[in-house]
Amino acid sequence: MTGATLLLAKALDFAARKHVHQRRKGESREPYINHLAQVSWLLAEATGGGDAALIAAGLLHDAIEDTDATFVEIEAEFGSDIAALVAEVTDDKSLPWTERKRLQVKHVATKSRRAKMLKLADLTSNLHSVLESPPADWSPERKRRYLAWAREVTDGCRGADTTLEEGFETVWRRCADEFDA
Ligand code: ZN
Repeated sequence: MTGATLLLAKALDFAARKHVHQRRKGESREPYINHLAQVSWLLAEATGGGDAALIAAGLLHDAIEDTDATFVEIEAEFGSDIAALVAEVTDDKSLPWTERKRLQVKHVATKSRRAKMLKLADLTSNLHSVLESPPADWSPERKRRYLAWAREVTDGCRGADTTLEEGFETVWRRCADEFDA
């Protein structure tokens, strides 16, 4: 096995264990790992498989925010490059939800290009979920607000990667049609 294959197998195992009891908020309650798999696949596709660290970060990107994993643990297991990428897309959970969402819009443009790619893949996956299996308690207005927010964040990612930006645009338009946004 090459180093990249080992890295990805290890990241997949780590993510599956850390998120084992989590499911997506959508009505079909998909296992959380489905989201992580989709994000890492979108990154793999966009980079032609050329950035294994970024693809691994796709699997790990919600671990600090949503599980007991820490930055130190990810750095020890996967190195400082991957840990830094995950940290770049991790919200400060001590802040209220609306404040975290506002800060994402405010700060995204200052992030590294690879962190922006990760954010684009994350939001693309989230929009697919909102389209295919929206949370049962989300009103049409709530969906439209999420769409508008996702647009604001990805506006700050302009120029990061054409493939990912096009993928986001396609699912965003489908959502906009569906939700009359
Ligand atoms: Zn995510």
